[in-house]
Amino acid sequence: MSTTNPADSAQLKDIVAHAKEYGFVFQSSEIYDGLAAVYDYGPNGVELKNNLKRLWWETMTQLHGNVVGLDAAIFMDPRTWQASGHIAGFNDPLVDNLDSKKRYRADVLLEEKAAEYEAAGDPGRGAALTAEMGRLLTDNDLAGVRQLILDEKIKCPVSGTGNWTDVRQFNLMFSTQGSAVDSDAPPVYLRPETAQGIFVNFLNVQKSARLKVPFGIAQIGKAFRNEIVARQFIFRMREFEQMEMQFFVRPGTEGHWYDTWKAARRRFHEALGLPAHKLRFHDHDKLAHYAKAAVDIEYEFPFGFKEMEGIHSRSDFDLTQHQELSRKKQQYFDNDVNPETGKPYGNYVPYVVETSVGADRLFLATLCEALQTETITEGEGEEQKTKTRTVLRLHPAVAPVKAAIFPLVRKDGLPEKAQQLFDSLKFDFRLVVEERDSIGTRYTRQDLIGTPFCIAVDHQTLEDDTVTVRHRDSRLQTRMPIADLRGFIGEAVSFKRVFELL
Ligand code: ATP
Repeated sequence: MSTTNPADSAQLKDIVAHAKEYGFVFQSSEIYDGLAAVYDYGPNGVELKNNLKRLWWETMTQLHGNVVGLDAAIFMDPRTWQASGHIAGFNDPLVDNLDSKKRYRADVLLEEKAAEYEAAGDPGRGAALTAEMGRLLTDNDLAGVRQLILDEKIKCPVSGTGNWTDVRQFNLMFSTQGSAVDSDAPPVYLRPETAQGIFVNFLNVQKSARLKVPFGIAQIGKAFRNEIVARQFIFRMREFEQMEMQFFVRPGTEGHWYDTWKAARRRFHEALGLPAHKLRFHDHDKLAHYAKAAVDIEYEFPFGFKEMEGIHSRSDFDLTQHQELSRKKQQYFDNDVNPETGKPYGNYVPYVVETSVGADRLFLATLCEALQTETITEGEGEEQKTKTRTVLRLHPAVAPVKAAIFPLVRKDGLPEKAQQLFDSLKFDFRLVVEERDSIGTRYTRQDLIGTPFCIAVDHQTLEDDTVTVRHRDSRLQTRMPIADLRGFIGEAVSFKRVFELL
């Protein structure tokens, strides 16, 4: 969105093209020219996304005895959004360029400008700009925000002019008809975040699962925001998926839990293979109405460091709001003894620390990181030649296909042997059998979708039940008994490889 639109970077274009060609992500309704900021996941994309979601889910609910899951509905009583502040206060500041007629988020324009200062080696000026923006937005001083855009001489990337309208607040929630019979019935909203489904179920979950504070509730689900489109592929969508965990704590301990989850969540991304130097924490300049402290985990996408996950200390804001509007107590009785008073802590509304990561943004970061082009040398002596290879170096635990089985030729019983191998391993792993084209072409195809292992079935296999296993990253080939395959692949693709690093 800045004048040098980094969203148009060649790297992002390559990723978008690769995602389409190899069945990861398609533009929604493409045959009708596409619906802006809505995307569909293809055959490989859905596997990768499901693996990422399952990895997050197990990290939360399996590795922590005090975190349980929930799957709340997308529709909620409209009063939920009154209580949460989304109807009255959860707005984004928008500004239009009068020449191009393009609409932008004012805060995004200013953040891009601050990023430009930082990239130009003046981080102090960038920080001062975002701090000033934060102050103006907190005061709801929209005229001040416009003036800041003018003072900074921010131009529309399309028209190149600084001819801006007033800044207005715009509610990002989608709504739909709430009742088939009563046209005066209030609209129902498509939830803009999954968190509220957790808050309104706080006591149901705590009681049914007999949980003691501190405990967490994890949820994965769709959320909807009528975003201004910023040409950043699946980074900013109007229908997207969130993976959120609300951690309910005793008031006064939220600082400790905020720091704990902040560190834990960063470790998760590193364990998955996102390099430390491409991750950073970014404290919020403008706190949302519910937040006491908030930090983003940013990843360096091709268009710069951007938020992938938010960690928020939400105090007792949401539960208290629901308590007031629903007139149902949202309290927890803590019978642990307070060492200072010698008495139980008693009744209170817990404080909440939230971790919220977009499944789509994690997917995009994973794809950006994995897609690599390298120069390789093949053959020996005079036959030797160099060529470039594109390979998707996905962590084996999240790769869509774990191993591809190739009969060397389509005769002599090799296809049948390959099929037997497929049948003997299919209960354990997602595999494919490929018979067509040369072995080299088949390797290339699997490299492009990130398959960690290719298994060649040849004539020797018929004699001694061994196969050649080709490793995606090193391209090394090793001969291995079929009997060892389950253990070998299982070890490499297990979520344990990620869990061990957490
Ligand atoms: P942004 O500032 O980029 O609009 P946000 O601060 O509004 O994001 P949160 O409300 O904290 O985002 O949502 C938590 C997470 O949900 C984000 O870190 C992001 O990964 C994801 N998310 C939010 N909005 C979108 C969107 N429009 N498309 C895809 N993912 C999103």
